[in-house]
Amino acid sequence: MDGEKMPAIGIPRAMLYYRYGALWEHFFQSLGLSTVLSPPGSRGILEAGTRLAPDESCLSLKMFMGHVDALVGRCERIFIPRYSNYGYTEFFCTRYEGIYDQARNIFRSSGQRFITCNIDVQNGSPEAKAFEKLGVELGFSPRQSRHAWHEAARALEQQQKTAEHIQKELAGKPGMKVLVAGHSYVLSDPYLGRPILDYLESAGAVSLRADALEPETARKACARFSPTCRWITSEEIVGGVLLWKDRVDGIILVSAFPCGPDSMTNELLIRRLKGKPILTLVLDTQSGMAGVETRIESFLDIIRFQKGEMV
Ligand code: SF4
Repeated sequence: MDGEKMPAIGIPRAMLYYRYGALWEHFFQSLGLSTVLSPPGSRGILEAGTRLAPDESCLSLKMFMGHVDALVGRCERIFIPRYSNYGYTEFFCTRYEGIYDQARNIFRSSGQRFITCNIDVQNGSPEAKAFEKLGVELGFSPRQSRHAWHEAARALEQQQKTAEHIQKELAGKPGMKVLVAGHSYVLSDPYLGRPILDYLESAGAVSLRADALEPETARKACARFSPTCRWITSEEIVGGVLLWKDRVDGIILVSAFPCGPDSMTNELLIRRLKGKPILTLVLDTQSGMAGVETRIESFLDIIRFQKGEMV
């Protein structure tokens, strides 16, 4: 980057980027700021993150720190929002709340600057207000910041509607269908979950995703099924499973080791969903695709057998 102007804002392509990234990018771009994303997830990024993150971190957090590492020195500030809650009954995984402070601590000697905003409805900071404050901190007026927020929220809504529309078209295709459920940042990552979706496709199955659904609809479905589930992204996954399950032949639950919220919600789904084959895959730093492929292939055989396509 010597002699070139660095992009103003760096965004790690990990964790909640895959849930809110359209909002973040449109917010900064509406303010006229340039953004840079870290490269797609890879073995190298995960290895770097594994060296940097605390040992007890989940796989997703290790991947996240590798992405931050890839941005250090390549932008003026790295944006890491703190997502805490949407009120007194809806919480985010505590790791989302801690990653800004963890990253600042891990990279404290790098000279890299960071910026955050707090989504914390319990303490009077809903998303709209948090992003308005962020815009003001970056030197824009409250009016400019509010305008950028509205543009960004519209872009996110549009992206979610498009994903749901594509999924409905996929659900209407003939052939075996498998619903894959997991955090968006696990399923969309090219090194973690994407190979599972690619393998299903190569094995002749149509894969649907539990997270391709308007989030509010999914959370309402989850609330009817389990009123005590409190983690927002987990509610969205469970709700997605409930709303898509009748259109598929089997369900694969994918999680990142060791994920506390997933261990509870996956158990809930396995115990309460009857009549559908369910496979759980837990990914960790040692997971190779060979073992995963064998398990998926056996799972697809079970589905074929149940459908009477195998004797
Ligand atoms: S929800 Fe699970 S995978 Fe995601 S950050 Fe929390 S512990 Fe990690």
